[in-house]
Amino acid sequence: MIKRMCIIGVGLIGGSLALALKRMGYTKEIVGTSRREEHLRQAMQLGVIDRYTLDAAAAAKDAEVVVLGVPLGAMQPVCEQICEVLSEHTVLTDVGSSKESVVDAVQAALGTLPAGFVPAHPIAGTERSGVEAAFAELFEDRRVILTPLDTSSKEAIRTVHDMWAATGAIVEQTTVEHHDQILAATSHLPHMLAFALVDSLARMGDHDEIFRYAAGGFRDFTRIASSDPVMWRDICVANRDALLKMMARFQDDLGIIYEAIEEGNAETLLEIFKSAKQARDRLLIG
Ligand code: NAP
Repeated sequence: MIKRMCIIGVGLIGGSLALALKRMGYTKEIVGTSRREEHLRQAMQLGVIDRYTLDAAAAAKDAEVVVLGVPLGAMQPVCEQICEVLSEHTVLTDVGSSKESVVDAVQAALGTLPAGFVPAHPIAGTERSGVEAAFAELFEDRRVILTPLDTSSKEAIRTVHDMWAATGAIVEQTTVEHHDQILAATSHLPHMLAFALVDSLARMGDHDEIFRYAAGGFRDFTRIASSDPVMWRDICVANRDALLKMMARFQDDLGIIYEAIEEGNAETLLEIFKSAKQARDRLLIG
């Protein structure tokens, strides 16, 4: 059980973590902080946090666990605000979608990587954001990846592991580098495709008609293009190299399909579609 926890950025992810832990009686007190008081008041009204302050340092002071639930671009400034009040016993963790950038942000803000720092990323979310979108079940049976560093203490890793396990999540560990490569492929690239497709179609002259005739498949494929633009801008900047590598690879593969269609090469098309269907059925469904 965590006596006092501080969540900086009580939005979809930070708010859902708070709700999940409260439901399990895992925390005695959760203090929330962010930039806008109306968001924190709303979090109080929804029973997500026990109290709030707009002063991040005051919120983090004496907290056993501090969770960084802000967009990636805000990680460093937020760490700079709290660096004075972190003690050697404070467990510091985050929920950011890319890990190397968060490690760099913590190092830049604190001048060191404290033993209590354990980066983490819940592989769960929705296209909605803000505390009103938070719900306690968000992490149930979903993976949370911890990327402990050589500097992370065993105690801090155990605390962060147990905290996420209490939400009903399946907790795994990997390296920062591996996390960023895998997420570039499975999450960041698909978001780029969805944003690019919707933007491209929306800029076509007769886009009203195109969207009017959009059926289930289009809606399914493009749901994630409704995700928060600021968050995704930050992810692209943060995971630039891994994402560019995946995009280049994908562009080549799309080029093969383009050529096959251009040349009327039905055999190649069928091979690609069969192989994709088999892979999806086996790896995602079966
Ligand atoms: P969100 O719902 O927009 O919440 C972000 C929170 O951060 C808000 O409470 C916001 O409140 C606060 N905030 C923003 N800038 C701040 C700043 N400079 N200082 C202090 N507070 C600030 O976003 P989210 O979806 O929960 O995402 C949060 C983090 O989780 C991101 O790092 C993202 O990469 C990661 N993540 C997201 C998902 C997903 O599907 N959404 C999944 C996994 C991980 P104020 O406006 O009041 O400041």
